[in-house]
Amino acid sequence: MARGDLACQRRTRREDEAMTRVRIRLDVPDSLLNVSRWVIDALLYPLGFEAVWLDSGEHDADIHYGGNDADKSARVVFGFAANAAEVYSRRCAVDLTDVTWADWGGERWPVLFRSDRGEPDLVASAWYLLCGWQEMTTQARDDKGRFRYEDSLQSKLSIPLVPAVDGYREQVKQMLIDAGFQVRQRRWGDASWVVCPTVDVDYLKKWRPGMVYREVVQNLALGRRDDPLHGRLKRARQFASQFVRRGDLYRDSLRRIIEVIGASDGTATIFLKAGAHGPHDVAYPLDGGFVCRLVTSCREAGFEIGLHPSYFASQHPDYMRRERILLTDVVGETIRSVRQHYLRYSIPTTLRLHAESGFEIDSTLGFAEHEGFRRCTCVPYRLFDPYADKATGVWEMPLTVMDGTLFNRRHLGADGAVGATSQVMDLCERFGGCAVLLWHNVLWDEMDAPGWAQHFERTVTEARHRGVGISALGSALDAWRQSL
Ligand SMILES: [Zn+2]
Repeated sequence: MARGDLACQRRTRREDEAMTRVRIRLDVPDSLLNVSRWVIDALLYPLGFEAVWLDSGEHDADIHYGGNDADKSARVVFGFAANAAEVYSRRCAVDLTDVTWADWGGERWPVLFRSDRGEPDLVASAWYLLCGWQEMTTQARDDKGRFRYEDSLQSKLSIPLVPAVDGYREQVKQMLIDAGFQVRQRRWGDASWVVCPTVDVDYLKKWRPGMVYREVVQNLALGRRDDPLHGRLKRARQFASQFVRRGDLYRDSLRRIIEVIGASDGTATIFLKAGAHGPHDVAYPLDGGFVCRLVTSCREAGFEIGLHPSYFASQHPDYMRRERILLTDVVGETIRSVRQHYLRYSIPTTLRLHAESGFEIDSTLGFAEHEGFRRCTCVPYRLFDPYADKATGVWEMPLTVMDGTLFNRRHLGADGAVGATSQVMDLCERFGGCAVLLWHNVLWDEMDAPGWAQHFERTVTEARHRGVGISALGSALDAWRQSL
C-alpha cells in the first residue's frame, strides 16, 4: 500500500472520537455497494458524521438507502433509483434528457437519478458527478488529451458555477437536522471556508534563448503577431527594457507572490517541476542557488512545495515516481501535493499513479476552459477509482480558478477576472469549501500577461477583507480534518 493510502485512510483517533456515528443500512445491488458507501461517506464526513455500516439483516438504522422497503422505519430515508445500478455496471452515461431539476429554496438544482416515486436519488447523482463518471464515459479530448468543458454536463446545462454535490449535501444535512441529529460542520481553523492560493512554476526564467528568438525574429522582424507597426515597436521597447533589467521577471514574480501572500498572513502551495520530457516542458535546475533559496524562504514562511509533473508523467509511472523522489530530495521533506501540468489527468491512470507514488493531495481537477467545479464540489473528498471500484487514499482539493482560464480562454480583463473569482469565492464561502486558486509566476509581466498581477493582488486583498484564512493545501486540509 502506498504511503498516501496509509496516511489518509486511517483516521486519527481524535477524528474518530469527535465524529458522530450514524448507522446506515444499504439495500443496493452488489455492484453499487462500494461506490454508494464511498459517496455517502463523502457527503457525511464534512458534516462531522461517521458511517457505521449495518448488514442487510440488521434493523434500527439511522439512514436507509436502497430498494428494500422493509427498513423504512429508519430516521432518514434516501430516495433510490433502480436504474443507477445499470448505469454503473454497464459504464454508460446519463442522457441529458434524463436530467431533471429540483427546486430547493427557490433555486434550481440538477438531479441525475430519481426513484420510481420521483424522489431525487442524491446518492447516485453524487457518485456520478464526484467520481468523474462523465469524464470516463466521454471519449472526446482536446489537443492536450484533456476532458473538455464543452463536453461536460456543466456546459450543456449551463451550470459551470453550480456545485451540485454540495447542494445534495445541504439536502442531506437538512434531513438529518429534521430527524433530530446535531450537525457539526467541519471548519478551516477560525473560518468556515478557506482560500488556497497555488502557483504552478512552468518556467524559472523568462528570457530563455527560444523566447528571445521568438521576440526578435518572429515578432519584431517578421511581424508574426500581426500587430500594426506602432504595436510592434511598443513591444520591441518592452522587450528591450525587460531584457536589460537586472534579474528575471519570473523569478521576481515568485518572490513577490510569496511577499504579497505572506503580508496577508497567508501561505500558499508552490508546485515545482522536476522533469522535462518533450516540447511542452521547459527544464530548470532544482539544484541551483535560486531554487535552494526559494525552498528556504518557503519553509520559513510556512509555504508548501508540491510536484508539478512533466507533461507525459500523467501516463508514465517512472516519470511520476522519479520526479517525486527528485523533488523530495531537494526539499528535504515529504511531498504531499501534486498538480498535473496542463491539468492533464486521466482515469484511472493518473489517479493510480498519484496513489502509488505516495501523494496525499491532488489539486488538478478543474476545467482548463472555465472557472467553477469540474466534479461539482468545492469541498475536499477522497478520490474513487471507478475501474477498481474502490476509494483511494488521495484527497482531492478541487481547483476552482486558474489565471490562464480567465485571461486566455475566457478573454476577461482584470475587472472581469476579479469579478469571476469573487463569484467562485462566494460559493466556496456558502458551502464551507476551499477556493483553490491557481496563478503562474508570470505575474507582473505586463508585456505578455497584462492584468494578471492586478487580478492576483486584488483577489488576495479581497480574501483578507473577507476575514478568511489564506492557506497552503496541506495545512488547510489538516486543519479541516482535525476541526471537530
Ligand atoms: Zn504547468
